[in-house]
Formats: sequence, structure tokens, C-alpha cells
Amino acid sequence: MSAVSAVKDFFKTFLLLELVKGLALTGRHFLSPTITVQFPEEKTPLSPRFRGLHALRRYENGEERCIACKLCEAVCPAMAITIESDVREDGSRRTTRYDIDLTKCIFCGFCEESCPVDSIVETPLFEYHGEKRGDLYYTKEMLLAVGDRFEPQIAAAKAADAKYR
Ligand code: SF4
Ligand code: SF4
Repeated sequence: MSAVSAVKDFFKTFLLLELVKGLALTGRHFLSPTITVQFPEEKTPLSPRFRGLHALRRYENGEERCIACKLCEAVCPAMAITIESDVREDGSRRTTRYDIDLTKCIFCGFCEESCPVDSIVETPLFEYHGEKRGDLYYTKEMLLAVGDRFEPQIAAAKAADAKYR
């Protein structure tokens, strides 16, 4: 260290310049408008691509969209999805089991991206919790129920994002 910088450092320390700079910053923000969001009464806007709780969607006639192709299960990096399937009486293939273990899920969105029929999606819902591990193990019935509940929001988010795809 040169003598000049040593002297500079000495005066910086002696005059408490770093402390003064910090106090000046605090002072500047003390009078500026507050930007703290009073959650849960206030909420910030969410992107149409927000990846919250998963859902399985249906078509308008009530038929489930999923065709049990298992692409989502194959692409899931966390191996959080478990699917079993069978052929129905009408000859179409459907899942007999579709589970997502949300304690494994990393909310990457790959399952949604891979689905050819827009069946598995991630909703804007992030206010959910489990009190024990099993509470975050979502079965097909639970995922379909989430889809039924949030279909208007899911469809609106898909429509808002469509022009960017
Ligand atoms: S969001 Fe990612 S980690 Fe979660 S289930 Fe889908 S593919 Fe798997
Ligand atoms: S949710 Fe989509 S990707 Fe997954 S099995 Fe069903 S149709 Fe295939």
C-alpha cells in the first residue's frame, strides 16, 4: 500500500466517512414514499407465466384433457410426477393415477411446457400449505379440483401469453 492511500484511508476512518455516507442514504429514503406491500391485504401483480400450484384441466364439455402420454413425467427433473394409465371402454387412453409430490417439485414449469394438450398447468395460486408431508402430495382428483376452481384464471393467463409463444 502506498503512503498516499494509507493517508487517505486514515482520514476516511478518522472522519467516519462510510458512516456518514450510510446515514445520508438512510436520510434520502426516509422521506421518499414507502413501497412496502401490506401482504396479504395488498398483493403485487403476477405474470401470466407465474408458476404456482399445479392443476389438471378439462375441456369445456368436462372431459379431462390429459391423454396419459407421460411426457410431463419423463421431463420432470425432480421425478415428482407419477402416472399410471389404462385404456377406457371407449378406446381412449386416460390416466388411472396422476400424482405430484410437491415436496420434490422445483416449480420449473417443464411439465406445463411439455404437455401437448395444455392439461397440466401451474396456476397463480401460491397461498397454500401443508402441515405434514402428505398434505403436499397431490393426487389426480385434487389436481382436477384445482383446475376446475381456477379454469377462468388459467385460460386468461394462457390467452395473455399466447402472442409471445
Ligand atoms: S414444475 Fe418441474 S419439478 Fe415440478 S412437477 Fe413440473 S416438471 Fe416436475
Ligand atoms: S398432463 Fe399432458 S404431458 Fe402429462 S401425461 Fe397428460 S397429456 Fe401427457
